[in-house]
Amino acid sequence: MASATGPAAQAGNVTEEVDAVVLGAGVAGLYQLHQLREQGLRVRSFDAAGDVGGTWWWNRYPGARFDSEGYIYQYLFDESLYKDWAWSQKFPGQPEIEQWLHYVTDRLDLRKDIRFGTRVTAAHYDEDRGRWLVHTDQGDVVDTQFFVSCAGMLSAPLKNIEGTESFRGELVFTSSYPAHGLDLAGRRVGVVGVGATGIQVIQTIAAEAGHLTVFARTPQYVLPMKNPAYTEADQQRYKERFGELRATLPHTFTGFEYDFEHAWADCSPQQRETILEETYQDGSLKLWLASFGEMFFDQGVNDTISEFVRNKMRERLRGDQHLIDTLVPADYGFGTHRVPLENGYLETYHRDNVDLVNVRNNPIAQIRAEGIELSDGTLHELDVIILATGFDAGTGSLTRIDVRGRDGRSLADDWGRDIRTTMGLAKHGYPNLLTTAVPLAPSAALCNMTTCLQQQTEWITSAIRDLRSEGKTTIEPTARGEDAWVDHHEEVASATLVHNTTSWYLGSNVPGKPRRVLSYIGGVGMYRQKCTDEAADGYPSFART
Ligand code: NAP
Repeated sequence: MASATGPAAQAGNVTEEVDAVVLGAGVAGLYQLHQLREQGLRVRSFDAAGDVGGTWWWNRYPGARFDSEGYIYQYLFDESLYKDWAWSQKFPGQPEIEQWLHYVTDRLDLRKDIRFGTRVTAAHYDEDRGRWLVHTDQGDVVDTQFFVSCAGMLSAPLKNIEGTESFRGELVFTSSYPAHGLDLAGRRVGVVGVGATGIQVIQTIAAEAGHLTVFARTPQYVLPMKNPAYTEADQQRYKERFGELRATLPHTFTGFEYDFEHAWADCSPQQRETILEETYQDGSLKLWLASFGEMFFDQGVNDTISEFVRNKMRERLRGDQHLIDTLVPADYGFGTHRVPLENGYLETYHRDNVDLVNVRNNPIAQIRAEGIELSDGTLHELDVIILATGFDAGTGSLTRIDVRGRDGRSLADDWGRDIRTTMGLAKHGYPNLLTTAVPLAPSAALCNMTTCLQQQTEWITSAIRDLRSEGKTTIEPTARGEDAWVDHHEEVASATLVHNTTSWYLGSNVPGKPRRVLSYIGGVGMYRQKCTDEAADGYPSFART
């Protein structure tokens, strides 16, 4: 890999000169490219994927689908772009989502500026010239003023099990599941991981696989999804709400259409039970994101709601103690980690062809030629292994690139010591590096991603516009500005119960990763206001020259 001073970093090798490089062509990257182009910038986008879609291109595993309602996951900046697309159901699946992103790409004529199948390997800031040199695995060396990352919160897969290469059957990660699928009929299939991804895979392939063995470590609270097909009248109805959705989504706590509507203290036990039951029966994330906000702060409230959900899960597991012990969380609170929606997931374990292996106290030791071996030596022989083992969230997409800021400082080293950003939009020491979906902004945790990504890309667009209109060329957070944001983030995060739960929300799934609540949890509306104020006040947390 090129170093900051190595030959590849010399401007002489430049293959293209632009104003902005946008990394990634998913939900954020597409909109960022559009906005910067509209501003008159020359933009080059790169994506390692074969086409647009970002997470929705890579995650083609069986059962991949939204658990945000489709009609709130769309872009809201253009009414006709919104209304000329119609979802076939409330929570559409990956193929339809990918089609939607193709529709957006074609409508905005974005493809011509995106280079697919091209991985950015390094980005070095040249302080003398105030510009970045961006290198790709295809030999590009792009000289650019701005380097904008839209590489995604959950795009660096975690590969933490030894021996994957020795397996003699078929082994896939869900994050790079083959587009043509896998033939599972009659075969012995193993799935590792019961997070949001594993759950979708398991419930979808159980009927097709000859035999399915699920390896589960940390149990997960789940909520049943209701996913009605949409008639034309349904589509018309939600489209008519465009103005209302545009006015509401950016200001709710989570960027969903609903918000916390009830105060625990104001309700009688009977009223609380009714609200929990009603939000549970909604078949959406309402119980998590629109029942009682106190669940995130008050241990007593959280205990009661957790027990409500556990009881629902136990009922569905029909008293089977092995299933209950393995699948029902006992040692962390509901909502303090991502709550997936599912369709018949728990019932899957009642099938004769499905086995559940608890690897909490008997961890996976390695993958061998024949299958998965546990620490006690038990070998589960398999023909297919599907790894749904998660991601190096928030930081992984950028730390896997050799990003160097002022004085050759390395982002991987900086974030390897401590994960700090300014509003998740920039990082001290890295002028003109602007970021989306990185830590310390609201993101996949507790946020409808499209709401957050639209706001972040729009803020970046305005920041660049303001800079240029003032005849300035660089923007970089000050050390003080960054300290203040990190302190604020910590204050908010440490007041919540999220802080106590081990999961990717804290980076604790990645050995050696510094612990910090990755997503800002002061609420999407509040975050937005703080970003807006920062710009309106003349960017006091930034040095602009
Ligand atoms: P995840 O939530 O991190 O789950 C990874 C799973 O793999 C966990 O059960 C984890 O167990 C297990 N695991 C990892 N390494 C293991 C090992 N060596 N041995 C045994 N088990 C191991 O990752 P994810 O399921 O991919 O979901 C990540 C996020 O993506 C979600 O939280 C969500 O935000 C997003 N997502 C969204 C959707 C949607 O919108 N519908 C769908 C899928 C994913 P431990 O918990 O014990 O580490």
